[in-house]
Amino acid sequence: MQTNSPRYVGRFAPSPSGPLHLGSMLTAVASYLEAKSNRGLWHLRIDDLDPPRIVTGSCQQILNTLEKFHLAWDGDVVYQSQRNSGYQDYLQHCIDQNLTYPCNCPRHKIMAAGGIYPGTCLTHSPSQNAPPCAIRIKSPDNAIKFEDECQGMIEQHIPTEVGDFIIKRKDGLFAYHLACVVDDHLQGITHIVRGRDLLDSTPRQIYLQQILNFSTPSYCHLPIVVNQEGFKLSKQAQATNIDLLPTNETLSFILSALGLAPPPSIQDSVPLMLQWGIDHWSSHELTDKLTITESSLQHYV
Ligand code: GLU
Repeated sequence: MQTNSPRYVGRFAPSPSGPLHLGSMLTAVASYLEAKSNRGLWHLRIDDLDPPRIVTGSCQQILNTLEKFHLAWDGDVVYQSQRNSGYQDYLQHCIDQNLTYPCNCPRHKIMAAGGIYPGTCLTHSPSQNAPPCAIRIKSPDNAIKFEDECQGMIEQHIPTEVGDFIIKRKDGLFAYHLACVVDDHLQGITHIVRGRDLLDSTPRQIYLQQILNFSTPSYCHLPIVVNQEGFKLSKQAQATNIDLLPTNETLSFILSALGLAPPPSIQDSVPLMLQWGIDHWSSHELTDKLTITESSLQHYV
């Protein structure tokens, strides 16, 4: 994916819910290689919007780990917890367009009914919606489609597959989708490389970009990591704290999962391996699954 203009601006946006693990580190390395092989910028954003999910000390731990792997971010680190006024402005923009409504339906009831919000509160009068209320956005009639760099054409009809979704939570916190699109816009992000677990969220984010008149970045949702037999890595393997493993071996492991095999002569040097990775990176070669070899897997299970 070579781009000339506008300049490539990528990012990595971990949640500080613990140390970086194999899956998140793989995303960090892939998004970094993609940005740097396009002579682009690579920003770091800490998604620390949700206090109960934050593990004390993990923000600093993530920064230290990235430094240890020589993954140098451009510019200042952005912390979502410090950006509420920006989110409020764009929330207001949605409210002003008459695209939102308050909702006090309990989550367990929606989940019990299949998880797709049926629009119950849309017809309620203001007096029926006693606070505390979440704010939902009315979903579009048309399907949202986009071409993902790794996953191909993706299409989602939000009203029937998700329902009107929350952009501000009942507890007063801004929802991930709104915060994410506002930050991607304000940071001028042109390319997003992230885990496949977020693929299903992307149509909602594209819809918000359309409402807020933001441009839509290019998306690349990385394939799922499997072992050579084609099995998904165990939760335990995926959750291994990267800091407990030798840095150069871990980078070599991640590069091999990304289809890159740096020569043995540079495998004891993290900066040389990274530079080699930049020179040889091609997101087009990512198949539908990233494979991990048996010998490298033994560290992780
Ligand atoms: N903070 C999210 C996570 O760690 C990723 C957000 C994004 O890349 O859009 O899963």
